[in-house]
Amino acid sequence: MTNAAATAMRLQEIVLGGPRGFCAGVDRAIDIVELALEVCPHPVYVRKEIVHNRHVVEALRAKGAHFVDELDEVPDEATVIFSAHGISPAVRDEAERRGLRVIDATCPLVTKVHLEAIRYAREGYSIILVGHADHDEVVGTMGEAPDRMFVIADPADVDRLAVPDPDKVAYLTQTTLSVDDTRDCIEALRRRFPKIVGPAKDDICYATQNRQAAVKTVAGEVDVLLVIGAANSSNANRLVEVSRVKGTPSYLIADKNDIQPEWLEGAARVGVTAGASTPEFLVSEVVEELRRVHTAKVREVRVVDEDVRFGLPRELEDMAKSAGKSAATRRDAPTAKSESPA
Ligand code: SF4
Repeated sequence: MTNAAATAMRLQEIVLGGPRGFCAGVDRAIDIVELALEVCPHPVYVRKEIVHNRHVVEALRAKGAHFVDELDEVPDEATVIFSAHGISPAVRDEAERRGLRVIDATCPLVTKVHLEAIRYAREGYSIILVGHADHDEVVGTMGEAPDRMFVIADPADVDRLAVPDPDKVAYLTQTTLSVDDTRDCIEALRRRFPKIVGPAKDDICYATQNRQAAVKTVAGEVDVLLVIGAANSSNANRLVEVSRVKGTPSYLIADKNDIQPEWLEGAARVGVTAGASTPEFLVSEVVEELRRVHTAKVREVRVVDEDVRFGLPRELEDMAKSAGKSAATRRDAPTAKSESPA
């Protein structure tokens, strides 16, 4: 940070949002890559960013993972890991046809949405997916029933929908949307299609909901909120939006180097939180940087405790067992989650 003198002595408190950072799906995806690097024949390929965070990807790359955009960059019969965001069946079919060893790191909560799409498609529904069309998760989910799925991102999109039978419509949602925006979309869908069906509750995952709830609380107590996350991280971008809707200026930063001193000018309290794919060491670095310049104390506001964990894919567990390794013992070693890049 430069030009620190302009804001020094003004900032009194750093308020950390909680929960923040890694969710169970991201934890699992990183565990999968790290364990695969230990027990699978090399090279090990990962299709797309395993999670949307450059620091995580670089740490895994340094351990030997090869990141590719598409399967045609993977040699026949090699090992490939699918990212936490999920894949369309066409990708899975291609991997099978090519004889690739597949390890699927799709978050179980994304898989749940895929299964709902398959069920509604089988029952003859047109399916409205509330989400962002260019996000990896939405691309993967759309692949389950491309002929009968439509993406909307906004209530205004609802009027433009043209479905074959307005009485046979279902909706699903991306897992990392804004809770409030999604509610508006679903209400608009219900107005247009009174017989629309959907999951018992929307598919926005627990981690997204908890991080947004924390931001709503923290935003009410600070003058500005810094959200640490990647520019292509859906859930991190939503945290910025949630804060701004509450009237609190908010900025998305990849790490401490992105902090602009003018954002903090005149601020007595700054909030800090992190998206679900952001490692905690980046939060620590931001707090250290702020405290290096200011004399602020640190307080955490935790709205809920999380204890969600997902198991590893069976095929990987079996390979680890054969190799005499287990996820539990491996976790004692440094991981991409705990390592700070040099
Ligand atoms: S943000 Fe939610 S859906 Fe996405 S990986 Fe994490 S737990 Fe799974």
